[in-house]
Amino acid sequence: MKHINDYYFWFLTGSQFLYGEDTLRSVALDSKHIVDGLNTSGALPCKLIQKETLVTSTLIEKTIMEASLDPYCAGVICWMHTFSPSKMWINGLRALNKPFLQINTQFNRKIPYDTMDMDFMNLNQSAHGDREFGYMTARMDIPRSVIVGYWEDERFKTKMSKWMRAAATSVAGRSMNIVRFGDNMRDVGVTCGDKVEAYIKLGWNVPYYGVGDLVDVMNGITEEQIDELMNEYQKDYDIKNANDFNINHIREQARIELAIEKFLVDNDGEAFTTNFQDLHGLKQLPGLAAQHLMAKGYGFAGEGDWKTAAMVRTLKLMGDGLTKGGCSFMEDYTYNLEEGKLFNLGAHMLEVCPSIAKGRPTIEVHPLGIGDKEDPARLVFNSKEGPGFTLSIIDLGGRLRLVYNDIQIIKPEAEFKKLPVARALWKPLPDFYTSTECWILSGGGHHNAMSSALDQDYITYYSEINNIELLAITKNTTVENFRFIDKMNRMAWK
Ligand code: MN
Repeated sequence: MKHINDYYFWFLTGSQFLYGEDTLRSVALDSKHIVDGLNTSGALPCKLIQKETLVTSTLIEKTIMEASLDPYCAGVICWMHTFSPSKMWINGLRALNKPFLQINTQFNRKIPYDTMDMDFMNLNQSAHGDREFGYMTARMDIPRSVIVGYWEDERFKTKMSKWMRAAATSVAGRSMNIVRFGDNMRDVGVTCGDKVEAYIKLGWNVPYYGVGDLVDVMNGITEEQIDELMNEYQKDYDIKNANDFNINHIREQARIELAIEKFLVDNDGEAFTTNFQDLHGLKQLPGLAAQHLMAKGYGFAGEGDWKTAAMVRTLKLMGDGLTKGGCSFMEDYTYNLEEGKLFNLGAHMLEVCPSIAKGRPTIEVHPLGIGDKEDPARLVFNSKEGPGFTLSIIDLGGRLRLVYNDIQIIKPEAEFKKLPVARALWKPLPDFYTSTECWILSGGGHHNAMSSALDQDYITYYSEINNIELLAITKNTTVENFRFIDKMNRMAWK
């Protein structure tokens, strides 16, 4: 599976010959200082690679074409230390097919009142060099993000780190396979969508496989492999009522997990979907199996919802290595509608990822009551409290739309005595009424990818990089304003 630090970024410094050799030497040295400083700061998830200062149209085009060919180059970061006439960039920008960030910073933090002369002014021109460059990227409408500020500041490095994660994830997405076992659930609207459009726009490939193909792999799984995985389960989870019946059912989930993982590895898959209507040859709906695979970093969604499965994988890779929070497939299930206690309870039939668990999950075996199969083993837990968001990706026919909502995950008031699934209770922002009204108006799905590791900045960058619509419901949202943006976007995003 891919990791965030498999990727690196090219740092391109723009200038021109007019300045003469001395100034250009200083430009290259200053850039090196910044790149080395950022690389050794420990603040960035991926390495920056400094390239030769770009001073001609030919060199710009050649460099950007090379970046476009490098599969592990996840983007180019451009900075105009001096003035670089932007017509020189047209051919290069036309060749660009990588995520693109413009930074507007300068080598020195302060204006040196006592010492500055015209040589200093000629060397430190990013205030207008970056504006000239920004004109051309705006004119050519290149999908772009801009980060402004002093390069050593935490704010600057944090933003760059978030952008890098969004960019590397976007590039990784261009070769992502989402393996579908069965199709999406019959007659469900939002889990459907244009797979060709998703491939063109995001690179997501969603091949279908018959469940029988998975059952073949299951038949090749040995008892020793299952023993080994059972040991792993017992390291991280407690088994409730470890009688023979339950152990056998947990072993069956281990067999399913081992088979799905082998299938994913053999088919280069990073996410998968199941469908409880299509389990021919499977004794149980994958519950614990899907949960433990999500904990390992795979994307997942139920009922054949390949868009949400891909988004769960996307958010897992975006947060790769971050220690705070987790990410899960989630579904708005039911509400608490008491005034002053307006909450969403999220869960699914079985498949919530233990990366969001508070404390040690238990493995439990219960009947499912749907699908007419054996009682599936599943992990049961409450989610950790804290800030997070839910994110849905939907197909509006002609375009993909991201619907985002900030949430606060909270501690349940009381114990769930009989609920046999993992769950999260949250307060949506800005408040329950506004959030829910806006979400439903936007068409946001009943499934979502939930994260407590990331925040809105990452998703904003992701939408900028991939040039897809983002409708965000945040602490500042009002229904009136949201309706207006929705209406404008329907005209803008054709
Ligand atoms: Mn569902």
